[in-house]
Amino acid sequence: MVAMKVVVLGAGIVGMTSALRIVEDCGTAGLDMTVMADKFSPNTTSDVAAGNAEILNVKTGLRPMREMIRLEKEEKKDNLSGKTVQIIHNYGHGGNGIAWSFGCAKEVAIMVKQLLQKQSTKSRL
Ligand SMILES: Cc1cc2nc3c(=O)[nH]c(=O)nc-3n(C[C@H](O)[C@H](O)[C@H](O)COP(=O)(O)OP(=O)(O)OC[C@H]3O[C@@H](n4cnc5c(N)ncnc54)[C@H](O)[C@@H]3O)c2cc1C
Repeated sequence: MVAMKVVVLGAGIVGMTSALRIVEDCGTAGLDMTVMADKFSPNTTSDVAAGNAEILNVKTGLRPMREMIRLEKEEKKDNLSGKTVQIIHNYGHGGNGIAWSFGCAKEVAIMVKQLLQKQSTKSRL
């Protein structure tokens, strides 16, 4: 079976908790996991919020949020490769990203598990 490529975008608490949950709940067999981000710990919001309250600069303290968290699956066609890709959105936690990261990561892992099951059913046909 070809391993399913999973890319987690973002290495703050939401991304890292999701990556960990996916590996713990789905196992590593059949999964090819990469975490991509332009900033890693300790330069993410989560570290500052969770660890120490040191003010780094005036930009620190942003809490991007939506009216509701976006936590859902979306199927999209990649215009470059022509392949269909599955996107799992998990963002917009605002001032609650630490508290909600665990539950949201669990939901993400369930969605990845469903995609893995779908792929293994397809490859057996
Ligand atoms: C002062 C303060 C106090 C807080 N107190 C609490 C609290 O008590 N309880 C609580 O639950 N929450 C609290 N929060 C909120 C919580 O810190 C955030 O909700 C949480 O850090 C968000 O986590 P995140 O992983 O989504 O974002 P981040 O930690 O900001 O990580 C985002 C990641 O995505 C990457 N990224 C973003 N855009 C791109 C891009 N275009 N390309 C590549 N990589 C990208 C970044 O490099 C980074 O790795 C607080 C926040 C602040 C600022």
